[in-house]
Amino acid sequence: MIEVRHLTKKYGKHTAVEDISFTVEPGKIYGFLGPNGAGKSTTMNIITGCLAPTEGEVLIDGHSVLDEPIEAKRAVGYLPEVPPLYPEMTPEEYLRFVAEAKGVRRDMIAEEVEGVMASTGITDMRRRLIRSLSKGYKQRVGIAQAMIGDPDIVILDEPTEGLDPQQRAEIRDLIGTLGKDRTVILSSHVLSEVQEICENIIVISHGKLVADDTVENISRSLRQDITMTLTVMATPEEVESVISGIEGVKSFSIVSTNGSETSAKIKYGSELDLRETVTFAFSDIRRAVVSMGIEEESLEDIFLKLTSDGADASPDGAGTGGEDAEDAEDTEDAEDEEYDEDEDGDLKYDPADYIGGTDSGPGGTGTEDTEGAEEIGKTEEKNSDGGDYKPLFGGK
Ligand code: ADP
Ligand code: MG
Repeated sequence: MIEVRHLTKKYGKHTAVEDISFTVEPGKIYGFLGPNGAGKSTTMNIITGCLAPTEGEVLIDGHSVLDEPIEAKRAVGYLPEVPPLYPEMTPEEYLRFVAEAKGVRRDMIAEEVEGVMASTGITDMRRRLIRSLSKGYKQRVGIAQAMIGDPDIVILDEPTEGLDPQQRAEIRDLIGTLGKDRTVILSSHVLSEVQEICENIIVISHGKLVADDTVENISRSLRQDITMTLTVMATPEEVESVISGIEGVKSFSIVSTNGSETSAKIKYGSELDLRETVTFAFSDIRRAVVSMGIEEESLEDIFLKLTSDGADASPDGAGTGGEDAEDAEDTEDAEDEEYDEDEDGDLKYDPADYIGGTDSGPGGTGTEDTEGAEEIGKTEEKNSDGGDYKPLFGGK
């Protein structure tokens, strides 16, 4: 279980996250939603212990991420927004390195890497260079490194961002499978991304929590009326008399008529489905319904409403007005400059931080970061000329 208590993160004067509290129950898949800049990555970096909060605390299975980082981090696998991949390694080499860094027992590493590659579907890519993999496969490798050590909680920051629709669908399926026996939190700025696989969603906007509930409850509490547009082979008077006799109709209007064919709009609560009732009511007077259409607010619309500037639609009334957004605009640029240091300092994700490893780079390969890799790239030249990937391992 994750307990996020009154988290606040300030970058200088700019408040990126303000007094956020929520609880993540074990064994469920949570969607962490908010538009770009809402504070998702900041919150996830704090939950995973990569960034210190200004105020508040995070408990993972009762252990404070700040005070007992080793215990807390042991339970967590993290895929940050920018995955910490080493492009000049193969997935297999990289996952072995991560397993070592996370302190997986030496005699268990091969099995662990094998298992994680199988469950993320990258076994066939094990000997290609990560650099040469498609975005979808790179993302799988990123998810695979989060899975090393079999953590109970997996946190994925925008795991489908930048992928094409096919790859997105595959990653969603993969997350759904992984989520069967562990807790998953994944962030996204697109509601439809999480709608399919998440049971719960936590919505933030301008650093504040605006909703925390099941997908169903959130949509139910915000959904507006359904509008039915229908055309009947009937006079306006007949249409009027039939519709006014239907229970649950909140309002209706005649849109057009040519005397024998009439179109009308009917509004009713989204908890009802009046399609059958309406059809049968007209057939009772032997009038044919020739067309019927339903307009219902999509969850995407609801999400936009929740997170738009000055939104006041949140169930707990946490909407904040535009004032907040202005503040952000004013200070953002300056603060970004000022706090680069911060980002370079504790924001870095290193698998070695998890489960108490010490080494921060893969031994001897010099690929501490991607820039360094360019210079050292002797192997790169051999392998960079398109489709033909040579294994770095002896090619057994
Ligand atoms: P999200 O992941 O939801 O897009 P972030 O958590 O990355 O949002 O950012 C939240 C806010 O904090 C944004 O306004 C962003 O510009 C600001 N921010 C993020 N990181 C830094 C930083 N290192 N220094 C200054 N401001 C930052
Ligand atoms: Mg982000």
